[in-house]
Amino acid sequence: MRTSKERSVGFRISELNMAKAQIFAKNLEVTYNEGKSNEFKASRDLNVEIFAGEYIILFGPSGCGKSTLLYSILGALPPSRGQMLVKGDDIYKYEQDQLVNFQRNVIGIMYQAFNLIPSISVLDNVVLPQIFASVDKARRDNRGRDLLRRFGVDHIANKLPTNLSGGQMQRVAVARSLVNDPEILLADEPVGNLDSISAEQVMNTLEQINLNDKKTVILVTHDAKYLPYAHRVYYLRDGKNEREVPNPEKKQIKKVEAGKTITTEIEKLARMYPYSSIEELRVKSLVNYLIEDIDFDQLVILEKAVEDVIKGRMGDNRFLDILNKRIGEGGVGFSKARSEMITKKIFTIMEESRDITRFRSTIDMDLGYYYQSRFVERLKKYTLSEVKIKLSKEQHERLDDFISDRLTGLTRRHEFLLALDKPVKEGGLGLNKKASALISRHIEKLLAQGVSYIIAKH
Ligand code: ADP
Ligand code: MG
Repeated sequence: MRTSKERSVGFRISELNMAKAQIFAKNLEVTYNEGKSNEFKASRDLNVEIFAGEYIILFGPSGCGKSTLLYSILGALPPSRGQMLVKGDDIYKYEQDQLVNFQRNVIGIMYQAFNLIPSISVLDNVVLPQIFASVDKARRDNRGRDLLRRFGVDHIANKLPTNLSGGQMQRVAVARSLVNDPEILLADEPVGNLDSISAEQVMNTLEQINLNDKKTVILVTHDAKYLPYAHRVYYLRDGKNEREVPNPEKKQIKKVEAGKTITTEIEKLARMYPYSSIEELRVKSLVNYLIEDIDFDQLVILEKAVEDVIKGRMGDNRFLDILNKRIGEGGVGFSKARSEMITKKIFTIMEESRDITRFRSTIDMDLGYYYQSRFVERLKKYTLSEVKIKLSKEQHERLDDFISDRLTGLTRRHEFLLALDKPVKEGGLGLNKKASALISRHIEKLLAQGVSYIIAKH
């Protein structure tokens, strides 16, 4: 599908990226206990490029080397092979005072354990890095208070950190990591110990720091529910960079190939992941439709099972079994009810998408029109039963037209969505935003699954 010319252009873009990357790890290897009997390579041949202003997540199961990579970027773990360049400098070639300056002014870090000193006030904890840098008291206290105010914890500035909630402590820790105004903020599982509300507040704080302050944020997590915050995700496993995934919902900072018109989610995904096979793209599309809140190991098992279903290698009983089986036993660990619901959805989508494929391959024939209207009728019925919305006769007729236009490619995704939203008087369907979004999402999923067969044939 992709010509060698396109591939070579992709390569040149990536050479260009290298030169401009803010953080650039090249063939990085980090070895603990080097030369001893318990020697262990925690990073192996890692290549990572991170650009100024990106929000990057390092994702993977416990022990895969996420923290190791983070501390390598901090200048704290000399590589046994390869290089770590930050802003073009090999930070492991720095003299001692250059390294101190780098760790004080260029880069900030926060940890899962908040590491606040219990015997001094919250404010003194925040400005501690400036005490070390001998900034005068009035100036550093002002700076500290500004940051505490910004994160909604200025009222506790004079308290000792001992009686604060976890969420408050982590926001104090964010303030401390920013007190010297670094360009890059590293965060190692910063919300791992927080309840879900505090976790969300801290995650939103980090997002603000990325968006408003334009800082590069590099976050380590093993929890998939935070992935949507990132521009890009590096999936690590056994110390290696398994894959690199841009988030299609965010405008990318790192250059990706400019695409042509995007019509379905699969085509959109295909532009985002140019080297993934059609099967892999279909798996991504289905999995992120159905699942939000799972961890890395579950995700890997689930993607593999969905792939087997898509390739026709696995039936519904075995699929259900894998979803429901416990994690330690090679399953995803979902409840029975959730497993059944997901199995039903996946297999219904597979069924419907086969019909779309059949429809698309007959579209040029004389029978096309007849086929189309019956097909649209079925698509509509199925969609409405899934989203549970009742329509008037007029709305029904309009929806037929809209689906038909979308199916034949006359309208694009956002135009279809707009038509659902628009008041009836203006020629739309007059649905509320939520209902429109539901219907649109559903139809796009069906189209995407069906269309991919056609792409695959070429
Ligand atoms: P993660 O943050 O992904 O959980 P780490 O980067 O902390 O993983 O660790 C990666 C691997 O390196 C693990 O197997 C861990 O046991 C090992 N490791 C980490 N720190 C050390 C150390 N100081 N000495 C020896 N092995 C270590
Ligand atoms: Mg870790």
